[in-house]
Amino acid sequence: MFKEVYKTILKYDTIVLARHIGVDPDAMASQIALKEAILETFPEKKVYAVGQGSTKFTYLGKLDKIENIDFSKSLLIVLDTPDKKRVDAENIDLYSYKIKIDHHPFVEKFCDLEMIDDESSSTCQLIIEFLYHTDLKRNKSIMEKLFQGLVSDTNRFIFQNTKASTFHLVGKMMEEYDFDLKKVYEPLYLRPLREVRFQGYIEQNLVVTENGVAYIKITDEVINKFKVDASAAGNMINHFNFIEEVLVWMTISEDKKNEIIKISIRSRGPAINQVAENYNGGGHKLASGARVKTFEQVESLINDLDQVCKKYLEKEGSV
Ligand code: AMP
Repeated sequence: MFKEVYKTILKYDTIVLARHIGVDPDAMASQIALKEAILETFPEKKVYAVGQGSTKFTYLGKLDKIENIDFSKSLLIVLDTPDKKRVDAENIDLYSYKIKIDHHPFVEKFCDLEMIDDESSSTCQLIIEFLYHTDLKRNKSIMEKLFQGLVSDTNRFIFQNTKASTFHLVGKMMEEYDFDLKKVYEPLYLRPLREVRFQGYIEQNLVVTENGVAYIKITDEVINKFKVDASAAGNMINHFNFIEEVLVWMTISEDKKNEIIKISIRSRGPAINQVAENYNGGGHKLASGARVKTFEQVESLINDLDQVCKKYLEKEGSV
């Protein structure tokens, strides 16, 4: 499949790289790195990385606005996105040809060519493999970005999506490019004191259900008190991985401006993505998200997850 994707890239002069809404380092790094690799190899092509950015990820590079392109002659590559409704791009149906490169469990086919490996650690890992298997050029800056996306999506090699192939690839890249780890890790993990204090607030106020679902409701008032932004709690979700009494945990953030409640969910055992799908969400078996409108729906989601944990405990034993 790598060759087919590469041959398609060769054919088009204009290429747009998109990814899912709610940008994260894996989605954005795969997008920017692939853009840079295509331009390094074919400087005459026009390549755009699109979607709404976040100041948090400016270290990965800049996103583009598309101006005056003929969609009917252009290629769209969608990264890290299993379903059409979550693609952060416009005019998807107008493109001449569409490719999907993704590591999420399959949701729907919406591209002409779909390269999916839901066993892969990250979309960045897929792009690293793609670069090693084709004639696209690599350089240190491109590989550092891909490393950052991979590290972020495996939560520093902790998640089960980390495979032997992940370590092989990372070893190979480190040998070849001699990364400065301080430079690579600092932008990913450095954060202001107010966020650390906010994390303390979450830790103090987590509610844990009978069967091990931990949750915290973050209201506008709390967000304002700690002077963090609405996405801060969701961004911290991976800090609560190893709590003995907790099997599934979630941050519930009220976004009053957009009249939506955003929920990030993680698990260290039971599969949660199917429950998330019932609440306008989805994702991976152990890492999902959902979007609901009311706190009644939140209660129902907590109950559903509690039942999933109950069944899991009956089968597997204690938390
Ligand atoms: P997050 O908690 O936002 O980091 O998301 C964790 C995983 O769930 C990622 O793979 C997301 O792509 C996926 N995800 C988050 N929100 C949604 C949603 N509303 N619908 C489908 N997938 C989602």
